[in-house]
Amino acid sequence: MITRAGADILHLDVMDGHFVPNITFGPKMVADIRKLTKLPLDVHLMISEPEKYVDEFVKAGADWVSVHYEASNHLNRLVQQVRDAGAKAGVVINPATPVNVLEEILPFIDFVLLMSVNPGFGGQKFIKTSVEKAKKLAGMIKKMELDVMIEMDGGIGPANIKTLSDAGVNVFVAGNAVFGASDPAAVIAEMKKQINGK
Ligand code: ZN
Repeated sequence: MITRAGADILHLDVMDGHFVPNITFGPKMVADIRKLTKLPLDVHLMISEPEKYVDEFVKAGADWVSVHYEASNHLNRLVQQVRDAGAKAGVVINPATPVNVLEEILPFIDFVLLMSVNPGFGGQKFIKTSVEKAKKLAGMIKKMELDVMIEMDGGIGPANIKTLSDAGVNVFVAGNAVFGASDPAAVIAEMKKQINGK
């Protein structure tokens, strides 16, 4: 359904019941989803000790893998591990983590994932300060002359996607806005219209 509805990427939230309170699924589910769609699979690891599982998730079919800044003591090595496994590497920061901490890792990654809700559950309200955070990060990336995408996750829908796009976000994760809608395709089309002006 989601492939037909016009999504460009499929974002998969992996939660371990340790780094975040909730538990979702592991590599087996990613491998099963891999068989159902040609869409790039964007695997967001909300897990402790992500270095133990990165290779398994890429083997299962992850095209993009993001790891939390807050979950790693050796982030540089970890993102290299993701790239060596053959996926695009992303670093995620929680709402209370400032973008400044990304300065030394930006040259080594393909995207940053900004959490605009606290990770762990769907359907939460968008944290408004995330807009300023995206602007600040976009400024850093520009100043450093890097080609790093900004993805945002949490509480995104037709009502705020234009503001976020203007702030420099290029990849939008929408859960509830799409899956909670009676017509998901219409919501995706509306969001694309908002950011493309078509
Ligand atoms: Zn996510």
